[in-house]
Amino acid sequence: MKSPLAANELNSLHQSLEGTAPQEIVRTAIQLFGDQLILACSFGAEDVVLADMLFRINPQGRLFYLDTDFLFPETFVVRDRFIQRYDLQTNQIIPMKSALTPEEQAAQYGEALWLRDPDQCCKLRKVDSLTKILRHYQAWITGIRRDQSPTRASAKIVEWDTKFGLVKWNPLAAWSWDQVWTYIREHDVPYNELHDQHFPSIGCTHCTAPVLPGENLRSGRWKQFTKTECGLHPVKQAD
Ligand code: SF4
Repeated sequence: MKSPLAANELNSLHQSLEGTAPQEIVRTAIQLFGDQLILACSFGAEDVVLADMLFRINPQGRLFYLDTDFLFPETFVVRDRFIQRYDLQTNQIIPMKSALTPEEQAAQYGEALWLRDPDQCCKLRKVDSLTKILRHYQAWITGIRRDQSPTRASAKIVEWDTKFGLVKWNPLAAWSWDQVWTYIREHDVPYNELHDQHFPSIGCTHCTAPVLPGENLRSGRWKQFTKTECGLHPVKQAD
């Protein structure tokens, strides 16, 4: 898809929003894209902050989540608390499932694909679903923060997503983990209780482990592999 904003316009927007409060960035995204904007929500700490901001500013806003069939039960508890708290309708909280059931995946690709080829497993259960939903939107919001990992260090506030062909907003790019948690506590935002059990980053049950104090916040994901991303966000090094 062609960007509704030219590259230099996106860059100017990014520069003008650098240092702006995330709520204002979300507000700007809503003003520019309206119902062509959607939030990608894993119900992790960053995403619940963004969901709270989104629904406070636009109670008709939309989010989607990737239901891989391997999510923790605690993730669905947060989802249900969001539905209740923000009175969300079914068209506002969209589950995206893989085209294959776990059984069909095992029959076609073998058992426990995540142990042998997690990139292929993430493609089948996450990336393909993401591609499918983003096709219907002009812009998406993500919870990327620059200090999450070296591969996210150069994330802009707003940028063109070359992989999926739409505008990508990263309102929390400049925030720290502490700022995220301050917001959650100050606004009493529902959050995944696994965060209280040393799981700073939460994905599928097969590929998420707790982390030790001082370890990178995403180091509990795909612990036995060098893999650091699902394929939703490009792996790029800091400029
Ligand atoms: S996180 Fe693991 S189980 Fe989930 S889709 Fe990726 S490889 Fe498969």
